[in-house]
Amino acid sequence: MLISENIRSIKQQLPAQVQLVAVSKYHPVEALQEAYAAGQRIFGESKVQEMCDKQEQLPGDIEWHFIGHLQTNKVKYIVPFVSLIHGVDSEKLLLAIEKEAAKKDKPVNCLLQVHIAAESTKFGFSSEELKTLFKDGVLDKLQHVNICGLMGMATNTDDEQQVKAEFASLKKLFDELKQGYFSTDDKFKEVSMGMSGDYLIAIEEGSTLVRVGSAIFGSRVY
Ligand SMILES: *Cc1c(COP(=O)(O)O)cnc(C)c1O
Repeated sequence: MLISENIRSIKQQLPAQVQLVAVSKYHPVEALQEAYAAGQRIFGESKVQEMCDKQEQLPGDIEWHFIGHLQTNKVKYIVPFVSLIHGVDSEKLLLAIEKEAAKKDKPVNCLLQVHIAAESTKFGFSSEELKTLFKDGVLDKLQHVNICGLMGMATNTDDEQQVKAEFASLKKLFDELKQGYFSTDDKFKEVSMGMSGDYLIAIEEGSTLVRVGSAIFGSRVY
């Protein structure tokens, strides 16, 4: 019952406005079933095939969040059932999702991924790119995609001050965009930040969705 205990102890640390995304990538269906039995309903996956396979085998009231790097040619497989796509990291991908959502006449919730870490390997828009995207009127092109907020990953470092500053920069950008483009749009409300090692810092800085994997399910075997 390790998984259910982990979920319980993490949930006790979350304020009411913060939701837990249980990141179950690379873990077997049995592990997700144990989390489900403990009351967990939001699961995060990073591979399209793996998420589709698990979705078919598990109960229909699960909210599936896609947290990985999504390729445009795979959008069609997840649009029918995905609850939230966290890592939209290019205009090309955003427009591909819009196109597929229009085709299926289905609203699709997305978060825009912002590059906040010092490492160069992580995907995402820079703050400047994102501001330009909005200034250029990207919202006019989106009829089926709901932009629900921003997502970011901090640098993988023991330096808590750095992590804190990176999360704060994401929250600041969120607030600017909210004020500039979504002041009357209730859907733009999510700041997805915080993983197993840094979710408590992320919550202090205004996270609304923490994506926690190894602290729930243990380490992953790739
Ligand atoms: C794997 C992953 C997580 C979870 O990481 P843990 O350190 O295991 O909690 C969170 N977010 C993203 C984008 C991931 O790819």
